[in-house]
Amino acid sequence: MTGMDETAQAAGEVGARLSARIEGYRQEMVQFQKALTAVVALGPENGGDGEWERAEFVATTATRFGLPAPERFDAPDARVSSALRPNLVFRLRGRRSEPATWVLAHMDTVPPGERRLWDSDPFVAEVRDGRIVGRGVEDNQQGLTAALFALRALVDEGLAPAGDACVMLVADEETGNRYGLEHVLDAAPDLIGNRDLMIVPDAGSPDGASIEIAEKSTLWVEFTVHGRQVHASIPDAGVNAHRAAAHLTVRLDQRLPAAFPRTDALYDLPRSTFEPTRHDANVPNVNTVPGEEHLFFDCRVLPSYSLGEVKAVVEGVAREVEAEFACAIDVAYPVTMAAAPPTTADAPVVRVLSAALHGARGVDSRLLGIGGGTVAAVLRRRGIPAAVWATLEEAAHSPNEYCVIDNLVADALVLAYVFAAGCEEGVAG
Ligand SMILES: [Zn+2]
Repeated sequence: MTGMDETAQAAGEVGARLSARIEGYRQEMVQFQKALTAVVALGPENGGDGEWERAEFVATTATRFGLPAPERFDAPDARVSSALRPNLVFRLRGRRSEPATWVLAHMDTVPPGERRLWDSDPFVAEVRDGRIVGRGVEDNQQGLTAALFALRALVDEGLAPAGDACVMLVADEETGNRYGLEHVLDAAPDLIGNRDLMIVPDAGSPDGASIEIAEKSTLWVEFTVHGRQVHASIPDAGVNAHRAAAHLTVRLDQRLPAAFPRTDALYDLPRSTFEPTRHDANVPNVNTVPGEEHLFFDCRVLPSYSLGEVKAVVEGVAREVEAEFACAIDVAYPVTMAAAPPTTADAPVVRVLSAALHGARGVDSRLLGIGGGTVAAVLRRRGIPAAVWATLEEAAHSPNEYCVIDNLVADALVLAYVFAAGCEEGVAG
């Protein structure tokens, strides 16, 4: 037998062991999801509490799995009962000074929203038709559960990872990351190396093939159009802000796409988008010419354009409409967020994840850019290449949120393959 054959055979054996091991966890993963759901974890901005209790539950359970006690990077926050926002790192030590492999998931969830839209108690997870139903079960408990059981599979199989295999669980993802990932990266700037592999299982596609590696830039434009209010029967005595705003909207709707026509097939959608969105109510009655209008555009721009170029076109059109309609237009930008540098298609994290998807599930991955923005941008801005991936039906934040149990198990296996990539006995790629 050649060396190549031996490697392939060993890889196949490890893959088969991981597959059987993960499948054996199926019922436990469902129970763990149910228990997690019962420990409600809402950030204070979402009117809640409980991240600490959830972190304690996770740490206790993980220790029972045989994982080492987590490293802690808790962030002080007087608004919560524990006065701390928990951030945990579970680490299995690797054998060499190889890059570490990380999976990042968040422990907080969003509130249930309108209770009458739920068919069952959002915090009592139920199993129906192969799905777990409850608040948080997909976002992000599926990723959290898959990652922890993947790490456990290495422990139970006695596999030593090549580099450190780490699961980071953070608070505050749903409300800005300040007490979560941003805090961890500020408190421990050397924790994650820029050679490390970082997977964020918090967005994806139902077939599990999409790997998100790039985002568009985001620009929100806010216009206040000042005219002069008068009785609608004598419009010449005033300045109709509504007419000016309507022309402004139509011109921007035509001129912005024309000024930024590039397409990039990596992105879903492949073009930049410029959407007129919010438009506040003006006068409540029909017989008054409105004197002021307040409207917004939401722009998602391919990173090959700068947001400065977009602003120049926006302001040029605003000046034009001002002159033509004798009004004044204030332009403000409530959000200006240049896209983080994309993770490249040949980055190690993309290669390893694609190989794991192929080896564990026979799935050929496809790379994808999105309108933005995920927590991966926080990492990419700090020079850490991150890939966002999971098998998701996009039930996040909706009533009757659910997690497909087969997806949970399948994702755990892919992450186990990722953690085991390059381990002594090898794993199918
Ligand atoms: Zn999430």
